[in-house]
Amino acid sequence: MVSAEAHQKRLEERRQKIGRRVGRITEDLRRFQDPDSAERATESENDEVLEGLDAAGRQELEAIEAALSRIATGTFGTCAQCGGDIDQRRLEVIPHTPNCVDCAS
Ligand SMILES: [Zn+2]
Repeated sequence: MVSAEAHQKRLEERRQKIGRRVGRITEDLRRFQDPDSAERATESENDEVLEGLDAAGRQELEAIEAALSRIATGTFGTCAQCGGDIDQRRLEVIPHTPNCVDCAS
Protein backbone atom coordinates (compact mmCIF):
# COMPACT_ATOMS: atom_id res chain seq x y z
CA MET A 1 0.00 0.00 0.00
CA VAL A 2 1.26 3.43 -0.97
CA SER A 3 1.18 5.91 1.90
CA ALA A 4 -0.55 9.29 1.68
CA GLU A 5 2.90 10.87 2.10
CA ALA A 6 4.15 9.12 -1.04
CA HIS A 7 1.10 10.33 -2.97
CA GLN A 8 1.63 13.82 -1.63
CA LYS A 9 5.21 13.82 -2.87
CA ARG A 10 4.13 12.67 -6.33
CA LEU A 11 1.31 15.21 -6.47
CA GLU A 12 3.61 18.04 -5.47
CA GLU A 13 6.15 17.07 -8.11
CA ARG A 14 3.43 16.90 -10.73
CA ARG A 15 2.01 20.24 -9.61
CA GLN A 16 5.41 21.84 -10.07
CA LYS A 17 5.85 20.33 -13.51
CA ILE A 18 2.41 21.39 -14.77
CA GLY A 19 2.78 24.78 -13.13
CA ARG A 20 5.91 25.40 -15.15
CA ARG A 21 4.25 24.16 -18.35
CA VAL A 22 1.12 26.28 -17.86
CA GLY A 23 3.34 29.28 -17.14
CA ARG A 24 5.22 28.75 -20.38
CA ILE A 25 2.01 28.36 -22.39
CA THR A 26 0.56 31.54 -20.91
CA GLU A 27 3.73 33.33 -21.97
CA ASP A 28 3.45 31.95 -25.51
CA LEU A 29 -0.18 33.02 -25.71
CA ARG A 30 0.72 36.53 -24.72
CA ARG A 31 3.36 36.68 -27.42
CA PHE A 32 0.96 35.35 -30.07
CA GLN A 33 -1.60 37.94 -29.13
CA ASP A 34 0.87 40.70 -29.84
CA PRO A 35 -0.82 42.84 -32.55
CA ASP A 36 2.58 43.74 -34.01
CA SER A 37 3.33 40.12 -34.84
CA ALA A 38 3.75 39.72 -38.62
CA GLU A 39 2.88 36.04 -38.46
CA ARG A 40 -0.38 36.67 -36.69
CA ALA A 41 -2.62 35.05 -39.32
CA THR A 42 -0.82 31.71 -39.32
CA GLU A 43 -0.67 31.71 -35.56
CA SER A 44 -4.40 31.66 -34.90
CA GLU A 45 -4.46 27.86 -35.18
CA ASN A 46 -1.61 27.56 -32.73
CA ASP A 47 -3.55 29.80 -30.42
CA GLU A 48 -6.39 27.31 -30.21
CA VAL A 49 -4.05 24.42 -29.50
CA LEU A 50 -2.28 26.38 -26.81
CA GLU A 51 -5.51 27.49 -25.22
CA GLY A 52 -6.70 23.86 -25.11
CA LEU A 53 -3.47 22.77 -23.48
CA ASP A 54 -3.68 25.62 -21.07
CA ALA A 55 -7.19 24.67 -19.99
CA ALA A 56 -6.25 20.99 -19.58
CA GLY A 57 -3.18 21.91 -17.56
CA ARG A 58 -5.14 24.23 -15.32
CA GLN A 59 -7.84 21.62 -14.83
CA GLU A 60 -5.28 19.04 -13.75
CA LEU A 61 -3.63 21.58 -11.46
CA GLU A 62 -6.98 22.18 -9.78
CA ALA A 63 -7.49 18.43 -9.34
CA ILE A 64 -4.02 18.12 -7.85
CA GLU A 65 -4.66 21.01 -5.45
CA ALA A 66 -7.90 19.34 -4.38
CA ALA A 67 -6.11 16.01 -3.84
CA LEU A 68 -3.42 17.70 -1.75
CA SER A 69 -6.06 19.31 0.45
CA ARG A 70 -7.75 15.91 0.81
CA ILE A 71 -4.42 14.53 2.04
CA ALA A 72 -4.21 17.44 4.49
CA THR A 73 -7.70 16.76 5.84
CA GLY A 74 -7.26 12.99 5.87
CA THR A 75 -9.95 12.20 3.30
CA PHE A 76 -7.52 11.22 0.54
CA GLY A 77 -8.43 7.88 -1.03
CA THR A 78 -12.11 8.32 -0.27
CA CYS A 79 -14.43 8.74 -3.24
CA ALA A 80 -15.93 12.25 -3.29
CA GLN A 81 -19.11 10.89 -4.81
CA CYS A 82 -20.03 7.68 -2.97
CA GLY A 83 -17.69 7.90 0.04
CA GLY A 84 -16.21 4.49 -0.70
CA ASP A 85 -12.51 3.64 -0.84
CA ILE A 86 -10.68 4.40 -4.06
CA ASP A 87 -8.68 1.41 -5.23
CA GLN A 88 -4.97 1.76 -4.39
CA ARG A 89 -3.94 0.77 -7.91
CA ARG A 90 -6.16 3.50 -9.31
CA LEU A 91 -4.55 6.06 -7.00
CA GLU A 92 -1.12 4.94 -8.12
CA VAL A 93 -2.06 5.66 -11.73
CA ILE A 94 -4.12 8.83 -11.13
CA PRO A 95 -3.27 10.10 -7.63
CA HIS A 96 -5.37 13.25 -8.14
CA THR A 97 -8.62 11.43 -8.93
CA PRO A 98 -11.51 12.37 -6.61
CA ASN A 99 -13.66 9.36 -7.58
CA CYS A 100 -13.57 5.59 -7.35
CA VAL A 101 -13.56 3.59 -10.56
CA ASP A 102 -17.33 2.95 -10.35
CA CYS A 103 -18.24 6.63 -10.03
CA ALA A 104 -15.73 7.71 -12.67
CA SER A 105 -17.11 5.40 -15.34
ZN1 LIG B 1 -17.43 6.25 -5.77
